[in-house]
This record gives sequence, C-alpha cells and structure tokens, in this order.
Amino acid sequence: PVDVKSLGKASWTLLHTTAAYYPDRPAPSQMDTMRTFINTFAENYPCWHCREDFQRSIKESPVRVGSRKKLSEWLCQRHNEVNVKLGKETFDCTKVFERWLDGPAD
Ligand code: FAD
Repeated sequence: PVDVKSLGKASWTLLHTTAAYYPDRPAPSQMDTMRTFINTFAENYPCWHCREDFQRSIKESPVRVGSRKKLSEWLCQRHNEVNVKLGKETFDCTKVFERWLDGPAD
C-alpha cells in the first residue's frame, strides 16, 4: 500500500526543489511545461484523497508560473493548506528559499 507520509515528504521535496530552481525569468515554453507538470502531477498523484483536495486547491488558486518567487510562494501556500488540514504548523513562506534553495535544514 502507498505510504502517504513518506510519499508526501518525498513529493514535497521534489516539488519545492523544482520550484526553487525554476528560472527567475522563465521563457514562455518553460511556463507552459511547468503549468503542465503541476496539473498532471495533481491528476496522477497516487493518494486519491490527497489528489482530490490538491486538484480543488489548484482550481481555486491556479499555479503561478511567472517567476521562481511566484511559483515557490504559490507552492508554499498549497503546502500550508495541507499542513492546516493535518493540524501541522504552517511554514513561513518568506523562508522558502532558505529551506529549499540555499540549504536544506533536514
Ligand atoms: P512534510 O509536510 O512532508 O514537509 C516536508 C518538509 O517541508 C518539512 O520538514 C518542512 O521543512 C518543509 N515545509 C513544510 N511546510 C512547507 C511549506 N508550506 N512550504 C515549503 N516547505 C514546507 N497527507 C495526508 O495525510 N492527507 C492529505 O490529504 C495529503 N495531501 C497531500 C497532497 C500533496 C500534493 C502532497 C505532496 C502531500 C500530501 N500529504 C497528505 C502528505 C503530507 O503533506 C506530508 O507530506 C506527510 O504528512 C509527511 O509530513 P512531514 O511532517 O514529514 O513533512
């Protein structure tokens, strides 16, 4: 069976790292592929109840692919929605590059 916790931790690592290394000034084709990546990720994520809520979240707040900062902040907010749902502490989104670009804390 799918281990929702370890799948989640690995997935957030992939997503936040991908966002942290996304260009500051993406070309139109990079914005297209990032939008597609996020939306197809949400459609295929192998935890169905997670996927349902994540898809709803993305529908309400469409992915922001205009820059590294926009994408990283958007993703931080989506992750915080899950944190709230699970009763976890929310993450300070001003620290997203400290955590995922400049050096991981754990
Ligand atoms: P994680 O939440 O996995 O976080 C890993 C690390 O990311 C943290 O240690 C912290 O350093 C950093 N971090 C925390 N919050 C943020 C943030 N907002 N922005 C940037 N960095 C941050 N689990 C469920 O039980 N139910 C669900 O519905 C559910 N939905 C999910 C949807 C998606 C799209 C994903 C990727 C995961 C989902 N999960 C869900 C899994 C859940 O979010 C956690 O990954 C899992 O509970 C393990 O939590 P963790 O404490 O190891 O830290």
